[in-house]
Amino acid sequence: MEKITLIGPFKQIIPMTGLPLKGALNDSQLSIIADGGIVLKNEHIIAIGTFESLKAIYTHAHIHHLKGNHVCVPGFIDCHTHICFGGSRANDYAMRNAGSSYLEIAKSGGGIWDTVTQTRKSTQEQLVKSTIKLANRHLKNGTTTIEVKSGYGLTVNEELKMLRAIKIANIEALADLVPTCLAAHMLPKDFKGTEVEYLNEMSKKLFPILLKEQLANRIDAFIEQSAFSPVQVQPYFETAKQMGFHITVHADQFTTSGSKVAIDFHAISADHLEASTDKEVHLLANSTTIATALPGASIGLGCAFAPARKILDAGGALAIASDHNPGSAPMGDLLTQASILGTFEKLTNTEVLAGITFRAAAALNLTDRGILKEGGLADLAVFHTSNYQDILYNQGNLKPCMVWKNGSLVYDKHN
Ligand SMILES: [Zn+2]
Repeated sequence: MEKITLIGPFKQIIPMTGLPLKGALNDSQLSIIADGGIVLKNEHIIAIGTFESLKAIYTHAHIHHLKGNHVCVPGFIDCHTHICFGGSRANDYAMRNAGSSYLEIAKSGGGIWDTVTQTRKSTQEQLVKSTIKLANRHLKNGTTTIEVKSGYGLTVNEELKMLRAIKIANIEALADLVPTCLAAHMLPKDFKGTEVEYLNEMSKKLFPILLKEQLANRIDAFIEQSAFSPVQVQPYFETAKQMGFHITVHADQFTTSGSKVAIDFHAISADHLEASTDKEVHLLANSTTIATALPGASIGLGCAFAPARKILDAGGALAIASDHNPGSAPMGDLLTQASILGTFEKLTNTEVLAGITFRAAAALNLTDRGILKEGGLADLAVFHTSNYQDILYNQGNLKPCMVWKNGSLVYDKHN
């Protein structure tokens, strides 16, 4: 049975409509529907307008009446995370802040390899549980779609274990999970062979199973001096493209070269970009690749932010994601991090909101969310305030009071 619901009245609805995918955005471009309402039919939005006008049209709709001041924005989209993992890296964090180097931390048993070891020790069921737990925590903070990478298994079977866990977690988690294969995270210590041989084995043995079991349609690689070079990744990405996968890249985190590979392969997104210079900024701005800033990694490591202002001014498309992972970005709070990036990089409210809504959706090749529109998914984050500016002004401390996912009220602080 179809169910029609009218929600409102909202003091403001910020639908994020009518804005370009690329380039700088002014707050005067942001459309605001005052005294608004949203009509849902099953999982979709069927109308948006003023509450009173919708009430007059949809006379048989069930009314979800809101008392007090509320502002509605599209459910946030976190387009880059690593929330499927085992163990903790609290000791790494303490050592790094106490002055230990990357090498010293690795020698003491820390670093990515520690997470690989702990993830391999975890059962698939344990990974399912921990992933759901983190995904549901993000959902309460307004994030209704979360990309989740593998990359802590680093053998065919262990990568499959992670991606199967993400697939099962997606059924139970309140947010949608979008899986990405990051078997090319680093060369595992116990692989007997070169980087190229490792990547070759992964593309030959793992890729066909990903397609068969529909575990992921996105392939990611960490292009960095400590991981894989552009030359090593070339055949890996070529195979992925031929098999129909979408490409995304961990690019320019400490040294440049990754963003160029991303652009050459028409990757959907190039993520990190802390080390990008004016040259890379210009290349990205003139490409179809979305530039994704990960302020959580900058905050976690104490490094500079990606040049977000420059990317937007050059005409690029900027998404913002949490990079939530146990090592370099343990906070996992997209709204806080996006707000902080805004203050350091001088981004307008509209640019920050775009970066965690429709521009992030584009980084996942999704067109049915990130915007509140007729026919789009009813994914809503609702805040108890009368002014949308409060959302970023509170730097993440103002949490949603309601979250709707696929037309269902999945989190409600009022009750
Ligand atoms: Zn990452």
